[in-house]
Amino acid sequence: MAAVPKWSATKIKIASECLQKYKLIYVDKIKPVTKADIALGLFLHRAIEKIFKDGKLRYKSAESYANAMGAQWVVTVVKPGMIQGRKIEWKDDKEPWILKHKIKEICKNIHERYAREYEEGIMPLAQEVHFEFEFGGRRFEGYIDEIRPQATIRDHKSTEFVPNEIALEYDPQFTLYALAIAVICCHNSEFAQVVGVSERNNTKPLDLLEIINLEYYSLQDNEVINVARRTPKHYHALVDMLQGLEKNIIDGNFYPRYGSHCKYCQVAHACLPRQQEYEKQIFLYDIPVLGTRNKEPGEKQLRLKFPRKKAKRAGEKVRA
Ligand code: SF4
Repeated sequence: MAAVPKWSATKIKIASECLQKYKLIYVDKIKPVTKADIALGLFLHRAIEKIFKDGKLRYKSAESYANAMGAQWVVTVVKPGMIQGRKIEWKDDKEPWILKHKIKEICKNIHERYAREYEEGIMPLAQEVHFEFEFGGRRFEGYIDEIRPQATIRDHKSTEFVPNEIALEYDPQFTLYALAIAVICCHNSEFAQVVGVSERNNTKPLDLLEIINLEYYSLQDNEVINVARRTPKHYHALVDMLQGLEKNIIDGNFYPRYGSHCKYCQVAHACLPRQQEYEKQIFLYDIPVLGTRNKEPGEKQLRLKFPRKKAKRAGEKVRA
């Protein structure tokens, strides 16, 4: 029996995608493989944190920022072949250099956007904000990419795939982040004042959900998508999902869920040998014994017959 975890957005995503993957990573502690897309995402998240210094833009222009990030990619990631202590598995020798160009392009766009917002007097209040809290009998933790004025959460996404409206409407990640800010605001009036919800500091967290703005920032498309604000209905949908996952985790029911997502699975290398082990066990105990069934009296033995002429033409030998 495995313990119910302290839920983070990543754990929820992995467990709801495939419980076997969840087990391999969080119970068996199999090291996930870091491929280029993961390295790109980790790098870009850190790169955005470097746009500002002491409340001002750190670089003179989008070009100088993009060039600096391109150089940092080479020095801190490509040369050591690692990111945040994780070895990167490149597809081939060209991949890190193709990504260098991509990073420069993405960073230029990011800087242009943030510089424009800065001119309008808007900049992040805090980045990479760690949270940990208990609510409704569950423990939660995680990091929010950006908290911005007017109770706004901006999440950075480095994938090419942008989810549609329905996927975003109930994406548990945004529900969790909105809940985190709501809970913290209810317990910390100073924080509530900074993020712009101070006048409501006597309300309950679920009542605050609706005033929190949510933004999905697609880094590759340089597009900010407004996500539907959360309400208690979204929280209850999250609870329903977690209840189902927790039941399976407590029962030790970590079944694999095969699908197109397996292509991107970071622990597929550990999943396949496990399946082969499993198949061996099936054959050991369940293999049917063919051809030894006792015939009923008068019953003819079934035989496969090949048309002799055809077989001869094909140059095969046929036993009578
Ligand atoms: S390869 Fe597919 S089935 Fe196996 S752990 Fe990964 S996601 Fe699950």
